[in-house]
Amino acid sequence: MDYTQRLILLLTLAGVCAAQGPKILIITDMEGVGGVNNAEEQLLPGQRRFDESRRLLVGEVNAAVEGALSAGASEVVIWDGHDGSRSLSIEDIHPRARLIQGRPTPADYYLKDRAYDGILFVGQHAMAGAKNGVLAHSQSFSVERITLNGRAVGEIGQIAAIAGYFHIPVIMLSGDEAACAELLEYQPKAETVAVKRLAGKASTLSLSHPEAKARIQSSAARAVKRIHEFTPWSVDGPVELRFEYYPGKGTSTVYRGQTVLEAYEGWLGKLP
Ligand SMILES: [Zn+2]
Repeated sequence: MDYTQRLILLLTLAGVCAAQGPKILIITDMEGVGGVNNAEEQLLPGQRRFDESRRLLVGEVNAAVEGALSAGASEVVIWDGHDGSRSLSIEDIHPRARLIQGRPTPADYYLKDRAYDGILFVGQHAMAGAKNGVLAHSQSFSVERITLNGRAVGEIGQIAAIAGYFHIPVIMLSGDEAACAELLEYQPKAETVAVKRLAGKASTLSLSHPEAKARIQSSAARAVKRIHEFTPWSVDGPVELRFEYYPGKGTSTVYRGQTVLEAYEGWLGKLP
């Protein structure tokens, strides 16, 4: 082999190795970001501290990207999951990540069978009514309870179920302490980082932002290294998805399907 042939062989091998690393999807939300605890000031564009929330989210997301890449991920895609998928910018995300944004985003628009090897949640909150949850809710603050075949689920459980339908496990979550506990119900082997917890009746105790980022980075790296240990959460069909609302906020609705995805498409079809 001459020099050029050897170089081509090396480059080919490098390409093959890179292509073999796990493909990771990061799903973001805002309510579970460290330091975010006020729905009137920190969650929506135009609110007094929204820009700070965005910066904190970006810091946490990019720490997760860095951790995943350091553990050998070959591809990291971020889905902007908060407020109708319009909180993140390509200006801010890690240079090696890519961003999915925009509505509507039914699950099968961005997921397909084994499209990713694992999902990481960043900034995630617990389900409506969760004990000790910070800014806990399920989809909207008017929903009291969502069940999947009778089992209470929040956004974490619903995404784990849809991802499971596509044979993708959730391998890591950062968010408040109650959100971490919630993921472990469906994915007991997942890595979790509690960046904050409820302190007293409505206050939160958060890690500093640098400490949250450091823990998220190492947790994401551990999860990606252990990715082969995970089994996706599988929900047997037929599936009944039920929404119950707080008094005066709506009437309960039920969506049915042979699979989780079919039941969800019923609900997504009803979205404005
Ligand atoms: Zn949100």
